[in-house]
Amino acid sequence: MQIAEFQALMARTYGARDRARGRVASVAWLAEELGELAQAVRKGSVDDQLHELGDVLAWLASLADQLGVSLDEAAARYAGGCPRCGRMPCGCP
Ligand SMILES: [Zn+2]
Repeated sequence: MQIAEFQALMARTYGARDRARGRVASVAWLAEELGELAQAVRKGSVDDQLHELGDVLAWLASLADQLGVSLDEAAARYAGGCPRCGRMPCGCP
């Protein structure tokens, strides 16, 4: 699945409910899911890590949708390699 497709899928699935909660609440949920991902990385199974990565992606997509921007556009920042040095792999010190 492409990033834009995923964002559209999340908007169809949760968009109305998430917009009603609002951006601030969505950022809080994203932060909470990041915390759960951190915990899964430290002491979870691969299944736990996949689960939490999916939840982080879902909230990230929801937030992008509420901000009226696309994750595709955000990812484009890295399309040419490192946005700072322009190299791939990054050659920044
Ligand atoms: Zn770099």
